[in-house]
Amino acid sequence: MMHHGIGFWKDNWAGCGLLEEFSAIPLSEDMLLWTVRDFMSDHGWNLDALEQVLPTEIVQRICAIHTGFESQRNDKCIWGLSNNGSFSVKSAYLSFFDGADIVPWPWDFIWKLCLPPKLKTFVWLIGHGKILTNVQREKRLMTTNPNCHKCLSLPETMDHVFRGCSFALKIRNFIKVPFDVLHSFSLGFTDWLRINLKSKIMLSGNLPWTLVFTASIWHCWKWRCNSIFNPGYEPPPNPPHTILQFSSEWLDANNVVNAKPTREVIQVRWSLPTLSNFKLNVDGSCKTDSWKICAGGLLRDSNGAWICGFSANIGIGNIYEAELWSLFRGLHRLGTRALGPLILNVIPCLLSL
Ligand SMILES: [Zn+2]
Repeated sequence: MMHHGIGFWKDNWAGCGLLEEFSAIPLSEDMLLWTVRDFMSDHGWNLDALEQVLPTEIVQRICAIHTGFESQRNDKCIWGLSNNGSFSVKSAYLSFFDGADIVPWPWDFIWKLCLPPKLKTFVWLIGHGKILTNVQREKRLMTTNPNCHKCLSLPETMDHVFRGCSFALKIRNFIKVPFDVLHSFSLGFTDWLRINLKSKIMLSGNLPWTLVFTASIWHCWKWRCNSIFNPGYEPPPNPPHTILQFSSEWLDANNVVNAKPTREVIQVRWSLPTLSNFKLNVDGSCKTDSWKICAGGLLRDSNGAWICGFSANIGIGNIYEAELWSLFRGLHRLGTRALGPLILNVIPCLLSL
């Protein structure tokens, strides 16, 4: 960034709000027109000028901002409420509620359950009341009959499909409901759903009841839809077997995917670069109480002999900025001194950027 058109006091360019709020001196009309460029020399920030008008902490923060390169393109406005500077409706929407007490949706826990994604989405729809039972379809003028296609005289609500329907009862009778959640079947629909989804009970074969429960209501709905929309369709002869098999197969597959890799011992000592190569090690540090950041690095040859090094006090920032500064200064100041191919040792946290 070259800061030609950026107002020093009136633009939010330093990431800490408008600098006029931190000014250490009274600001005249003319001073308010100063640009960021006015505080830069050919070699970076003009520290003397900055310290005359701002407190030390803000100056330190500015020092951790790179002043850019001559060949760089001009500055442009970015959206400050997203990480990548691009506008998103979501970030704008959330900004309206910043600091407000938002009551979380009571079904958010669904996404943390250990369930197949399609089952999570399914119970999320149930939590929103978005399952198109015949009662819902009648409200949307999609049918004139709100009743269950099996029980005929009873309205098909979500409660009916998953609990009261003769078909749901048949499935439940074959799948042994654990004693600890039996009482939930006499409670209201949402309490019943929540208790069974939050249950920690394990069935034989290490099957979580939550998985079997969710698989049973998902299959219940699937078979109900097939019976209505595919004439001649017959549900599997042994529904509980299908549900338990579905649950255990998914659990087995999921356990394989989530299996922890075996521990591997790695050597962390410094190793020599191969003949005629050079190795550059860089590192950054950040003090969490003051957020002061520093960077350092050194260049060695294939005998391990010191070529050159640096250590620098950058200013105020976070650990990622410290690591990036160490990388930048290492390549900029030391990399050019390597007289052969250069091997770079960076810190793992940079690889996550
Ligand atoms: Zn029914």
